[in-house]
Amino acid sequence: MNGHIAHRRILHPDIPSKPSRIPYIEIMHIGLLAAATLSATTLLGQPAPSWRDQGILYLKNSPHAKLRNIPVHAVTITNGFWADRRKVNVEKSIPTMRDLLESNGRMDNFLRLTGKKNVPQRGPVYSDSDVYKWLEAVGFALQSENLPALRKSAEDVIDLVVAAQEPSGYLNTYFVGERAAQRLLPATLEYGHELYDLGHLIQGAIAYYRATGDRKLLDAAERYVDLLLRDYGPGKKPVLDGHPEIEMSLIELYRLTGNRGQLDLAGYMLHGDERIQLRPQRIVYQFNGKPFTSRTKFEGHAVRAMYASCGATDYYMETGDRAYWNTLETLWRDLVTSKMYITGGVGARGEGEAFGDAYELPNLRAYGESCAAIGNMMWNWRMLAVTGEGRFTDVIERALYNGINSGMSLNGTLYCYRNPLEFPGEGERPIRNPWYDTTCCPPNLERILAALPGYLYSTSDDGIYLHLFQNSELNWKLENGTGLKVTQKTNYPWDGDVEITVSPAQSAEFTFHLRVPAWSSSSQVTVNGQPVRGSIKPGEYLPIHRRWSGGDKIRLQLDMTPRLIVSNPRLVDNTDRVAVQRGPIVYCAEGLDQTGVKSLADVRLVVGKDPAKDFRIESKPDMLGGIVTVRYPAIAYDKPLSQEPLYQVLGKTQPRTSRPVSLTLIPYYAWSNREPTAMQVWMPYVQKNE
Ligand SMILES: [Zn+2]
Repeated sequence: MNGHIAHRRILHPDIPSKPSRIPYIEIMHIGLLAAATLSATTLLGQPAPSWRDQGILYLKNSPHAKLRNIPVHAVTITNGFWADRRKVNVEKSIPTMRDLLESNGRMDNFLRLTGKKNVPQRGPVYSDSDVYKWLEAVGFALQSENLPALRKSAEDVIDLVVAAQEPSGYLNTYFVGERAAQRLLPATLEYGHELYDLGHLIQGAIAYYRATGDRKLLDAAERYVDLLLRDYGPGKKPVLDGHPEIEMSLIELYRLTGNRGQLDLAGYMLHGDERIQLRPQRIVYQFNGKPFTSRTKFEGHAVRAMYASCGATDYYMETGDRAYWNTLETLWRDLVTSKMYITGGVGARGEGEAFGDAYELPNLRAYGESCAAIGNMMWNWRMLAVTGEGRFTDVIERALYNGINSGMSLNGTLYCYRNPLEFPGEGERPIRNPWYDTTCCPPNLERILAALPGYLYSTSDDGIYLHLFQNSELNWKLENGTGLKVTQKTNYPWDGDVEITVSPAQSAEFTFHLRVPAWSSSSQVTVNGQPVRGSIKPGEYLPIHRRWSGGDKIRLQLDMTPRLIVSNPRLVDNTDRVAVQRGPIVYCAEGLDQTGVKSLADVRLVVGKDPAKDFRIESKPDMLGGIVTVRYPAIAYDKPLSQEPLYQVLGKTQPRTSRPVSLTLIPYYAWSNREPTAMQVWMPYVQKNE
């Protein structure tokens, strides 16, 4: 222990050895109103607490990260699309989830260990993680704004959690009493989610610490990690993560503490402990149990695979081990060329919540767990940090606006666990529910929405990167310490115009890397009214290098023409089908919006030679929280296809008659927010005879 404390001071000299005791209210006041005007070294005359400067990931000292995160508090999402979602998240989702965790015994699980309540343990083995993920959501919410009631609520939960920790550091409400003998044994590690729980404890503790400087939960997490470091790993007891999660958590903890043992233990688990032999199907399912660097494709449990890839990318950013990078690139290509839904969702199969084979992406039975889409975004955020390449941001945006955003209802209290791309309608079990006994997805959605401001920008050696477009204000600094304010004005994602005002504290030369999404085939960029020189490439960042002065304006105009998208022919589920995408938004048809159509199964879009010219766009501020609908010409068969034979001879099929109709499409994320109805993303089409 002594050795690693000494090491910690050398590696991260800016970390105060004692927690800051600056009153919270003062910090919030100064932080939110005047962050950009304060120097990095003084805050009320004391050294700046580095916890306030840490983003979602703290990459300041990560040698193989090209981009660095900015703190969540540095960006205020002022109004518009995500502001609305985030308001609901803080006012409805997070508080109601607290109540649900309470009423489903998740808090009592901790309380019973302190002897204050005599109740049985409730919930599956991983139930503690739901509480920790909720705490992480609160931590991110508090990084953006002062929310005294929510903070008090979180403090009570933290007190509860910490009181249940044993003197050894062990903290888990399931493996207690008669089950205590099973703790941290290989078989328990494989199935018991002990380290998954610990991973979420670490993440929750870090987010809360970065919001408040309060180390109580963080110290508890470190005590548990110290127990692992003391007794488990090479030359000690064998260790295995049954559900990857702790790898990325340990590495984030290492970034905060400088304790190399935490990084090394994460690396050891990514490699796999050779003393624990898993059955082959478990190596596939768990996405661990053999060296991460020996993987060549995605398979098995999608959330596990995504979280393992997050951890592996974190490990690469700290170590620069090329074998990791080569594997990550191989896996990324496997994902985007054959295993990702158009919504950014991943995990095709319900059985095992797993990846399918290449091009196995069914619509009706798509699994697409909300957590897996979130994992996809978190992983691509890390790949982006390594490279600064727009291909990763395109995946982030695809997942965020579609496969993640669909996971939470517009009123913020109902959640999808699965996110299918087709739904039969009435008579089905509801797809959105307030609670799941395995309630991994709801607090995961809450934490990602709460953390969102931290995903808009990054800094680099040469300047700043703008990743996501949204009405917002950045108050931060370049890496050389120059204060920088950036405001975005836009009606994105409904409109493709973004006005960006760049105001450094004093005139400064740097590069503004402006993202140009891959979907915008013709974009225009001007600076102070003058077209930018150089080619604007879809899917890349446009580097604008110049001397910037207060009030300089960048104007970005993206091509928002809706598009009909086709799949690779090997994706047989989408044969002769198209999906509609406008900007970052994927659309779907819901049965209840269609007039003159009995069943979506009997409708075909009618596609001419110039498919784009037949779209009709309509702004509907009062519909589904404010959306843009898309209409497209179609035909509806007079006789339902279900009345035709199952098989017929080609060339001798019964003739069909049809009538023209117009299909109304809504954003996919907004589906299933009204009465139960059929839904489909990929729509069959016929060619127009022109
Ligand atoms: Zn989940």
